[in-house]
Amino acid sequence: MRIELITIGDELLLGFTLDTNAAHLARELAAVGVEITRRTTVGDVGPAIAAAVGEALERAGAVVTTGGLGPTSDDLTRPAIAALFARELRFDANVYERIEERWRARGLPGHPPAANRHQALVPDGAVVLPNAEGTAPGLWLEDERGRWVAMLPGVPREMRAMARDVLLPRLRVLSGAAATVVRSRTLRTTGIAESALVERLGQLAAGVGDLPLAFLPGADGVDLRLTARALPPERADEALEGGVEQLRARVGRYAYGEDGADLAAVVLDACRRRRVRIAVGESCTGGMLGARITAIPGSSAVFLGGVIAYDNAIKEALLEVPRDELEAAGAVSEPVAAAMARGSRARTGAEIGVGITGIAGPDGETPGKPVGTVWTAVAGPAGQIVTRRATFVGDRQEVRYRATQHALDMIRRALPEW
Ligand code: ATP
Ligand code: MG
Repeated sequence: MRIELITIGDELLLGFTLDTNAAHLARELAAVGVEITRRTTVGDVGPAIAAAVGEALERAGAVVTTGGLGPTSDDLTRPAIAALFARELRFDANVYERIEERWRARGLPGHPPAANRHQALVPDGAVVLPNAEGTAPGLWLEDERGRWVAMLPGVPREMRAMARDVLLPRLRVLSGAAATVVRSRTLRTTGIAESALVERLGQLAAGVGDLPLAFLPGADGVDLRLTARALPPERADEALEGGVEQLRARVGRYAYGEDGADLAAVVLDACRRRRVRIAVGESCTGGMLGARITAIPGSSAVFLGGVIAYDNAIKEALLEVPRDELEAAGAVSEPVAAAMARGSRARTGAEIGVGITGIAGPDGETPGKPVGTVWTAVAGPAGQIVTRRATFVGDRQEVRYRATQHALDMIRRALPEW
């Protein structure tokens, strides 16, 4: 099955909003074997919407739109497409009742503003697609020749829920059981450069069997994505399973998870299983490591807390970093990182203490310590200590983020040995 996608909104054309809806839908549709043959973006202009949808229908006969279903005057998708299909808009009491229900459920007094009544206007013959996350329902409109348009809301959270719960099940039925799919699996690696990975992978770097391999470098590390195309779902899953196993075997300890895995969650899990707790002493990352860890639900079982020891006086007073070491080696140094790790452990009673000190830039470089230099130390349950010097690339934010990823990876790597 082939469809065209049209995303609607001035903010998309002007570049103020990134078109994440298109990327999300492209992935989700491919996964059920629906190919997007063209993507178009138009502004909040009725004739432009009608023209884009009309042309797409001529080419593909099947169109998905997102955006412009809201209650405001710039939301023109519904009237533009109704006019294209020569359908009247009629007030749908059921749709409006659901809008009122939502209003009451939020504990708001009185009735929804008059503008919300627009959202209850439904083109003749349209199927209403329920919106579990918002007020604007989606719409499905089909003409006498079987060509169709599915209109989804623009708000990404609402669009995703509707795509998953309503659109994809409909498309699965339409495209039939024999459909082939495009599916991917991603092996996440960290602490190894792309070129070094290519070497480790040898022949597999060009793909595993028929499955092409993509290298996707980012601040987390390098993701390896395998893709299966034009296979029935079970065959695709089987091929990917085998492929990822082969990759894992070659990549070894550099691999920390699959697909959307967050290294912070992986580390928390490992700590929970071993019943060890973490405390942090952060200088250049300013609490970012603690923030990443506490973003994971259930982190309280493992994470005790930490000190943002930015100024040397705080490193000294709250993390017991000796003044002579600060003076002799400088704040960005191995002994200071080690003292911060030991101090955060000693001060909190955690089994594992982390110390991070570095130069995030853009200024602050000193001879022998360029911007991006970070010393990280991890102190273990029996007082063991691991220290590493790294030089990260990127702007200030990226250096700081990479430092948190590196620290998490040091914990992950040290745990099995402790
Ligand atoms: P609402 O009922 O909230 O008005 P809507 O269907 O009218 O929904 P829009 O008004 O077009 O949707 O967009 C609502 C919000 O969703 C805006 O903040 C917009 O920036 C965002 N948005 C719209 N389209 C996209 C897109 N393709 N990708 C990412 N965000 C989008
Ligand atoms: Mg809009």
